[in-house]
Amino acid sequence: MFKEEREELKFDWSMLGNIGEGRPNLGNTMDVSVYRLMQFTLRDVLIKEFDTETADKIFYEAGKHAGEEFCKELITKKDDFNEFVVELQELLKNLKIGILRIEEADLGKMILTLTVAEDLDCSGLPASDETICTYDEGFLSGLLSEYTGHNFSAKEIDCWCSGDRVCRFEAKRLNHE
Ligand SMILES: [Zn+2]
Repeated sequence: MFKEEREELKFDWSMLGNIGEGRPNLGNTMDVSVYRLMQFTLRDVLIKEFDTETADKIFYEAGKHAGEEFCKELITKKDDFNEFVVELQELLKNLKIGILRIEEADLGKMILTLTVAEDLDCSGLPASDETICTYDEGFLSGLLSEYTGHNFSAKEIDCWCSGDRVCRFEAKRLNHE
């Protein structure tokens, strides 16, 4: 699974395994601090070994891959945008990733502004002048790319860390496809 070299992405949802069977006593939830510990130490090492730009690129691409697979595996309502949004909101809430709202959506131009409150990656962190939710940027771009069939980018413009109480993302279809 992880010991073979590869030139292309190989993740498959089945790689997540049967968590209920594997953790009959502990179950399928854990503390948010453990998730952040994993993510932040990994990012720390990537920055040290490479640089912030490379670390961001890897986080964005990993998030994008996750968003695509998430959409493929978990989203069932793919015909109607409003139904898609409702299902996505429920999934993100039930999985405790965050509380999603669509602030603006211009489906003709394929430009959206989305907010995520109580975001898994950053809510409660000390204030800095950084928007840090690079993985989430990728995740949203992957979700929207998979859902629409067009290549989307997502950029975080406000973050808990930059002083806001929600993370706000601008997503748009990329012209070069
Ligand atoms: Zn954020």
